[in-house]
Amino acid sequence: MSRIVYVNGDYLPEEEARVSVFDRGFLFADGVYEVTSVLGGKLIDFDGHAARLQRSLDELDMRRPVEMEELLAIHRELVARNDIVDGLVYLQVTRGAAADRDFAYPDQEVAPTLVLFTQSKPGLADSPAAKVGIKVISIADERWGRRDIKTVQLLYPSMGKMMAKAAGADDAWMVEDGSVTEGTSNNAYIVKGGKIMTRGLSNDILHGITRAAVLRLAREAQMEVEERPFTIDEAQAAEEAFVTSASTFVMPVVEIDGAPVGNGAPGPVAARLREIYLEESRKAAI
Ligand code: PMP
Repeated sequence: MSRIVYVNGDYLPEEEARVSVFDRGFLFADGVYEVTSVLGGKLIDFDGHAARLQRSLDELDMRRPVEMEELLAIHRELVARNDIVDGLVYLQVTRGAAADRDFAYPDQEVAPTLVLFTQSKPGLADSPAAKVGIKVISIADERWGRRDIKTVQLLYPSMGKMMAKAAGADDAWMVEDGSVTEGTSNNAYIVKGGKIMTRGLSNDILHGITRAAVLRLAREAQMEVEERPFTIDEAQAAEEAFVTSASTFVMPVVEIDGAPVGNGAPGPVAARLREIYLEESRKAAI
């Protein structure tokens, strides 16, 4: 059975789905996206992803293709039609296809393009990587200056993942003006003196939906949190390091640029946060 995807109002087998060659997502990376995880057939943190999508659209003067209730209905329909138990729903909105290639935005009458598809990931929450942790390298952050907008221009993060792969690591942390901004597709944290540290929100990083939930849960569990930038040296000397994202939840980092973090094994703070996050997320899933 082929995967059923959603394109501008239609549910179609993936082979039949089409988008114009003049679509601005294709020509200019003029599009935004969201990835929502699915556990036990239910959506995790849907409201957070919907709110961030609206913010990304507003920042780019892009029209919202459908109301948020309809977006939720489309997510649920795709999860059902593709029998997703654990996995992801990818959503992309672009400024649509203008009549020709032109840098200037087309008139507001041009309909935005809305595409959604699912990815099945059985056992997503029981990833073996969470038990052993991941290795990261540091690279320069060479992305544009509006990383708070979740655009589809992901070429530099792709290059970062390839640099990590070439170095025998799993991912890369990006560094700007001496401090870590974030991972290629996740937010970065260290633990020092039992305190959780992560860079504060600004245009320098994506405002992670998992980040917001994890920091709220950490504070509720009386864990100390400090939102401030940190360096690679500090991270290598930290007790623990970890990353968060919708697809990996809380993932321990056990090596940075070849140096072990702590004793080189996942630490108790990351493990506890992962457990709390998964438990609370499953309870609140819709
Ligand atoms: N930073 C970047 C650069 C990302 O691409 C992502 C994941 N899309 C995140 C952080 C984590 O965000 P979220 O928790 O909303 O998945």
